[in-house]
Amino acid sequence: MFNLILFGPPGSGKGTQSEKIIAKYQTIHLSTGDLLRTEIAQETALGMEAKKIMAKGQLVPDEVVIGMISSCLDKNPQAKGFLFDGFPRTEAQAEALDKLMNLKKETINLFIALEVSEEEITGRLVKRGATSNRPDDSKPAIIAQRIKVYKTETESVADHYRKFGKVVMVSGEGDVEDIFERICKQIDSRL
Ligand code: ADP
Repeated sequence: MFNLILFGPPGSGKGTQSEKIIAKYQTIHLSTGDLLRTEIAQETALGMEAKKIMAKGQLVPDEVVIGMISSCLDKNPQAKGFLFDGFPRTEAQAEALDKLMNLKKETINLFIALEVSEEEITGRLVKRGATSNRPDDSKPAIIAQRIKVYKTETESVADHYRKFGKVVMVSGEGDVEDIFERICKQIDSRL
């Protein structure tokens, strides 16, 4: 198995690059943001609770996202690997993921951190808000809150993996294809 974490601030292009990675490497895409939006669309109890939190630009409780990831891992025993997108976002989530991987006798092979300036991500999110149906992209104050949460709660998750030498930084600015090429180079050198 090849298990990859694609990391970076909101608007860094994780979703866009994830689509390309799963198409090329045939891994299973696990995006906690997408899983939560599916719960919202289906109007489940979990979805209704998450909707309020996401609209404020805050993080959904760790146990909720960990539970979702755990059941997705169980549902895909034949997977060639998993691509984690938007998860883990806290130290507790990173530790829970380590435990889930250990249970499967698997590991995280690579942690790719997309680097994009704050100015660029704010611009991208405002632009996305104009066309997407995502309420968390539509207000500058909510975008600013998400960037703040990223800095205070999420950014340090990279240190967890740095200890194990799994982190590589990739520039997330410029042409989508060029960014993808940079990502592929990192994956291919570890396959
Ligand atoms: P972005 O990376 O652009 O913020 P996501 O789709 O990854 O978009 O996340 C949207 C929102 O979903 C987050 O602001 C947060 O409220 C919630 N969310 C997604 N993943 C997690 C997670 N791993 N832990 C807690 N909350 C999450």
